[in-house]
Amino acid sequence: MAEKITKKLTPFQMAMLQFDQAAKILHLTENQIALIKEPRRVTEVNLPIRMDDGSIQIFKGYRVQHSVIRGPAKGGIRFHQNVTVDEVKALAFWMTYKCAVVGVPFGGGKGGVIVDPRNLSNHELERVSRRYMAEMSDLFGPDQDIPAPDVNTTSQIMGWMMDTYSMHHKRFLPAVITGKPLEMCGSEGRKKATSRGLAICVREMAKHIGIDLSEATVAIQGFGNVGSFAGEILEEMGARIVAISDIDGGFYSKEGIPMKEAIEYTHKTLTKTLKGFEKMGKVKKYDNPMKLLEEDVDILIPAALEEQITEENADRIKAKALAEGANGPTTPEADAILYKKGVHIIPDILCNAGGVTVSYLEWVQNRMGYYWTEERVNEDLERVMVNAFNAVMATAKEYKVKMRTAAFIVGIQRVTQAAESRGLYA
Ligand code: NAD
Repeated sequence: MAEKITKKLTPFQMAMLQFDQAAKILHLTENQIALIKEPRRVTEVNLPIRMDDGSIQIFKGYRVQHSVIRGPAKGGIRFHQNVTVDEVKALAFWMTYKCAVVGVPFGGGKGGVIVDPRNLSNHELERVSRRYMAEMSDLFGPDQDIPAPDVNTTSQIMGWMMDTYSMHHKRFLPAVITGKPLEMCGSEGRKKATSRGLAICVREMAKHIGIDLSEATVAIQGFGNVGSFAGEILEEMGARIVAISDIDGGFYSKEGIPMKEAIEYTHKTLTKTLKGFEKMGKVKKYDNPMKLLEEDVDILIPAALEEQITEENADRIKAKALAEGANGPTTPEADAILYKKGVHIIPDILCNAGGVTVSYLEWVQNRMGYYWTEERVNEDLERVMVNAFNAVMATAKEYKVKMRTAAFIVGIQRVTQAAESRGLYA
């Protein structure tokens, strides 16, 4: 299955390879592939922003609509200094197949702005967010393209963007964006939805491979929205979180790191990170935080950025299961090495699909103008995630392939069927 790759692939090349592996098994025709593989629309804008000191800076922004076959495009907006159009294309592609795997009626999209938000004041951050939405306002819409949070974008930013869109259209339009603050038409359960979905997948995988979660150890790379709450929920399920890391360092404790304390710590620091966490005592700081990935744990959760587990370190991964909170954390070469080693991978397009699932529920509630309880939302999330996990597991057994290829097979079949039912206008 694994092709020999000689040079480092970009995220989009990686995504295309994942697609090709599944498409080959499904014997898709060239016409079928042409309709569903490449992005439908790629938009690039330059955002002029007046900084607090009066100067003007230009920030580049992107929105990629990969597919609108199964519904409006759906996917987050990332603010990060290393954003590239290639990365945004990959992330939009993964959204198409993620939505299809969990069966929510959306296509795939993604956005990004090349900016390090740590260098912006709160007012500057608001201006970047509003200007991005204003520039893209024709692309977005509750029936066109619905963004959401991603790396470094918060519910507050979603609130500003919703306000900007509504002002432009002179109507209150909360369904244009999800992941909004609760008091501004957000959904109960959305904040922790990606992490809850991930924890449900880990629980199902643990049953499947015979790990007792109450005795399991976990390491988490990335302690933001996805990583921190994944730790909290898995801790509630009985697991011991022994290692965590973020952009400012990595920390280890054999006895387990109390998640509530760690999360509260990040709220108190200026940078909202784990910087200086070792000073609290109880934990040891890694000299090299990448070593966290190689810890001898039962479950490893990459929840930061792409391409963290590579050909270089895959052989040293000791975890029994790898739950991909981040999008694209494992390169195809590493994927092949881990598969050979018998590591059970819960692939990103399944593992982190809880976020888009509850985003869908938020969009439904916005359109009804009627809001559900957290219990109701979590019940739906539980059902959707367990069904998706079982569908992918059954497909992996049926086609005798790894879970990642199985997830793409499920997703590609659904998108292809929808494309065929719609036919071609022209
Ligand atoms: P976030 O900005 O809240 O958190 C990102 C975390 O990663 C931060 O703790 C940051 O410090 C850390 N980080 C960045 N670079 C790092 C590095 N080199 N080493 C270790 N840690 C590093 O973002 P998030 O929303 O939690 O997203 C994390 C990942 O999950 C991304 O890949 C994103 O695409 C994916 N994802 C997010 C959602 C969602 O609902 N937020 C849904 C699906 C997938």
